[in-house]
Amino acid sequence: MSKQVISFHYTLTDKTGKQIDSSRGQTPVMFLEGVGQIIPGLEAVLILLEKGATKTVTIPHREAYGAYDQTLISRVPREQFPVKEVQVGDMFKIGKDEEQRIVTVIEVTAAEVILDGNHPLAGQDLTFAVEIMERRDATVDELAHGHAHGPHGHSHEH
Ligand code: ZN
Repeated sequence: MSKQVISFHYTLTDKTGKQIDSSRGQTPVMFLEGVGQIIPGLEAVLILLEKGATKTVTIPHREAYGAYDQTLISRVPREQFPVKEVQVGDMFKIGKDEEQRIVTVIEVTAAEVILDGNHPLAGQDLTFAVEIMERRDATVDELAHGHAHGPHGHSHEH
């Protein structure tokens, strides 16, 4: 079968049933099969569903955002930190291009800023309630670009 482009709605909850995120009320999420655009555990489930199907599935953290990695915590001396007004919960992009990642400030002391480079959902098993809104074969252009294109054709810059 040709690679698929799938649009879906989701509501994401954590282990306690608390809602973390939802696409409801927004544009459904669209992805091209096989390029790693969404977490692998979820893609494996969605790829088996027909248009209109709904399903609730729990994805273990190793197939979602991975285990929580203690070594991704770093301590930066306050005077070396480029931002003066910094608070717990602030997020920054560090590195450039391919190596860019997002870090979250988890503690600020008089001497140091402590940063966590883990994905905010690392180490969490995630429950998704999904509904397939659309699925179709990928176009030649989409396969060449390695991503899905919207309903109005090619609408992004390369
Ligand atoms: Zn493209």
